[in-house]
Amino acid sequence: MAITPLMPVYPRSPVRPVRGEGPYLYGEQGERYLDFAAGIAVNLLGHGHPVLTKAIQDQAATLMHVSNLYGSPQGEAFAKRLTDLTFADTVFFTNSGVEAVECAIKTARRYHYVGGNPEKHTLITFRNAFHGRTMATISATDQPKMIEGFAPLLEGFKVVEFDNLDAALGAIDENTAGFLLEPVQGEGGIRPASKEFIQGLRKACDENDLMLVFDEVQCGVARTGYLYAYEYYGVTPDIMASAKGIGGGFPMGACLATEKAARGMVIGTHGSTYGGNPLAMAAGQAVFDVVANDEFLTQVRQTGERLRSALEQMIPNHDHLFEGVRGLGLMLGIKMKTDSRAFVNFLRTKGLLTVAAGDNVMRILPPLNIEEAHIREFVDTLSAAAGEYEVPAEAA
Ligand SMILES: *Cc1c(COP(=O)(O)O)cnc(C)c1O
Repeated sequence: MAITPLMPVYPRSPVRPVRGEGPYLYGEQGERYLDFAAGIAVNLLGHGHPVLTKAIQDQAATLMHVSNLYGSPQGEAFAKRLTDLTFADTVFFTNSGVEAVECAIKTARRYHYVGGNPEKHTLITFRNAFHGRTMATISATDQPKMIEGFAPLLEGFKVVEFDNLDAALGAIDENTAGFLLEPVQGEGGIRPASKEFIQGLRKACDENDLMLVFDEVQCGVARTGYLYAYEYYGVTPDIMASAKGIGGGFPMGACLATEKAARGMVIGTHGSTYGGNPLAMAAGQAVFDVVANDEFLTQVRQTGERLRSALEQMIPNHDHLFEGVRGLGLMLGIKMKTDSRAFVNFLRTKGLLTVAAGDNVMRILPPLNIEEAHIREFVDTLSAAAGEYEVPAEAA
């Protein structure tokens, strides 16, 4: 048999982590990596954080899973915390980001259905977006590498240019349910939308009774220096998907909505066997215990500024490779003049982990609690590596 037991859908790098400690990962031979990928914006407290580890251990020993057929004191408590801290009035818990987006899409459609407008089923989505890998969420994109071979796709999505308000407003018609977008695109190459764009979408939704649906799976939970990125934009969505950092490494997600937006989500309309299990709730609560306060968020913004300015100082020394830094808080990207994937692979051989993204961007997504010394180690190693790097012929 040629196929590997682990289905070969990922181009896995030779890094084989077996242990983590703070912002460091250790491979099978004890080799050490500075992890500025953080499981793609997941391990926001780094690896082995004592608060998170203990919460999970204690809850695992107490009660791990019960059915959603029963009352959930743990789910009620975390949902209350999320609704107290955000725009939302109600929360559906999931096990992943894509399930949170799926719930968001269903919530938007049901809103119009119960409002007597079942024809309003189409979400306007955006070029280079990433919403996950289910049939619904790949249907929401136009990226050939994600959709090829999976036809027929789900109907009800219309893709237009990102951060172009005229294009978005021009796409509204009698079938429009709303907009689905990442306020800061992640996979697409760390692109924060402009405030004018986001505020323009909010206004159009208000005027046309449309749902503004944010996918904050990557940019949410303190990553940008705001608990959720919508705060930076000065608007609130009607529905929002959260995941990745929310469990700090424990798989979980959440679909948040206002009472109005969730008017169609009544008994029997949605479900999940594991969603909101006590173990996940304990992980989420522990993460929020650490990150959901002004002191931590201020520190993320300051750390983000320091990392950004250190990168900006370094870039002119390697301007054959790097074009500039973009992003918000500790969701940063370096736009490269060469193939970012090849460079990310090279950095790995120097003990640095980053993530490639679209548009030849290298994503820098460190744990949110990194310290000055980690920034220095990262930028010094990155700069030395850039000095040594020979652009491969096929990537030039
Ligand atoms: C990662 C991601 C998803 C999908 O999350 P999974 O947990 O992999 O299902 C959806 N949307 C965005 C913006 C993401 O970054």
